[in-house]
Amino acid sequence: MHAARPAYDKLVFELSSPGRFAYSLPESDVPDSDPTTLLPKEHLRASPAELPEVSEVDVIRHYSRLSQMNYGVDTHFYPLGSCTMKYNPKINEDMARLQGFARLHPLAPEAASQGAFQLMHELARDLAEISGMDEVSLQPAAGAQGELAGVLMIRAYHLARGERRHKVLIPDSAHGTNPASTALAGFSVVELKSEANGDVDLVDLERHLDEDVAAFMITQPNTLGLFESRIHQITEMCHAKGVQVYMDGANFNAILGITRPGDLGFDVCHFNLHKTFTTPHGGGGPGSGPVGIKAHLAPFLPTPVVVKRDDTYGLDWSRPQSIGKLQAFWGNFGMLVRAYTYIRTMGPDGLRSVAENAVLNANYILKRLEGDYDRSAPGPCMHECVLSARRQKKLGVTAMDIAKRLLDLGFYAPSTYFPLIVEEALMIEPTETESKETLDQFCDAMIQIAREAETDATVIHQAPLTTPVRRLDQTLAARQPVLRWRQSP
Ligand SMILES: *Cc1c(COP(=O)(O)O)cnc(C)c1O
Repeated sequence: MHAARPAYDKLVFELSSPGRFAYSLPESDVPDSDPTTLLPKEHLRASPAELPEVSEVDVIRHYSRLSQMNYGVDTHFYPLGSCTMKYNPKINEDMARLQGFARLHPLAPEAASQGAFQLMHELARDLAEISGMDEVSLQPAAGAQGELAGVLMIRAYHLARGERRHKVLIPDSAHGTNPASTALAGFSVVELKSEANGDVDLVDLERHLDEDVAAFMITQPNTLGLFESRIHQITEMCHAKGVQVYMDGANFNAILGITRPGDLGFDVCHFNLHKTFTTPHGGGGPGSGPVGIKAHLAPFLPTPVVVKRDDTYGLDWSRPQSIGKLQAFWGNFGMLVRAYTYIRTMGPDGLRSVAENAVLNANYILKRLEGDYDRSAPGPCMHECVLSARRQKKLGVTAMDIAKRLLDLGFYAPSTYFPLIVEEALMIEPTETESKETLDQFCDAMIQIAREAETDATVIHQAPLTTPVRRLDQTLAARQPVLRWRQSP
């Protein structure tokens, strides 16, 4: 006998009871007509649609329950490394819902869209100021698309100078989108070795820099959460060989208001508005990954470019060397409103304090946990710390086990097994929006797990025990996904 499955475990289809419905309409005062006489035969169904038949209260309870199962920054601490899961201020939502923004039609005449254009123009200007870049395109819908736009502009730049360069250098510590977007742009990716702390191996870099290299793409601070201190030397080495330098700006939260990619010698960098600039992340909404460039790449910016002529804003489409259009209309405009709101509410000092507190919080966690977990590198970190569960692994407890156990203790798991160059990596990014109390609770949970691993790991291997869905067979879910609901026989 199986115990009855709890209601939260059921699909809305399984709650269905024939003849039940969620509405009541007054009796119709016009004659019924038969749809089969009104619609062409080929558009008629052979059998009725399989729709759940449920009452209004069934619908409300079902979706309210589902919403309560959702884990997010509005309910819990979310230390997912490299993702900057910071709190999204609600004023952003208020601004994005203003009728003039939310209901503006993207095909409205320019004269009727001046406010939206002004916002985009000023946001691009602010991002350029924050990054030390000359111009910014707001079109890309994610960091990955910002990367694609960036390398396409780099390709166009070299071609315009009569140079065909085929390779892009990327360190082995890179995020997977870096080689993916580079390959999509038609380049061959050459992987560079990193030093143990994630720094660029300068000897390996020098060896690879030649006339066939179009760009070097690196993350600063790097994916181990450390600032690459020889960055000036690196950008100069690249420029000496005509190589463009791309900064993956996913870790911008560490350097906001403190240093700028443009000043470090980068030619291109992208921003992840859904990370650094508090627009919703992941399932919460579409992303936005603006890309900033130095002036020599401006002719190749995606079209249209938002421009200001005298006191009027408009869209410039007449850019013969442009890489073209990347997104429908103007990109994910609602995200631009949210990021703009954030930047304007924080101001320059506020943005700098973001970076300072993000770095402080990460170092606090690092200090509290360094006795119980191995560190991936010595010294202080930037906005995130990467630990290794290699000590625990010797006791039979992996980074994955630790991540699962954290769910039982009320925390989202850190990033695991990234960066690839750290064995049993646990990448923890607290962000600046968490209090010391929350950081302490998280560290207490991590230390408790380290103790359990040493004494009795049974509960770790069973975890999670308190979540609606228990430990999943991750391979099966990827190999044989169940994408359709079927009535059980
Ligand atoms: C998140 C991230 C990306 C990709 O950004 P998306 O907006 O998810 O496409 C690239 N590099 C690093 C280091 C990241 O953390």
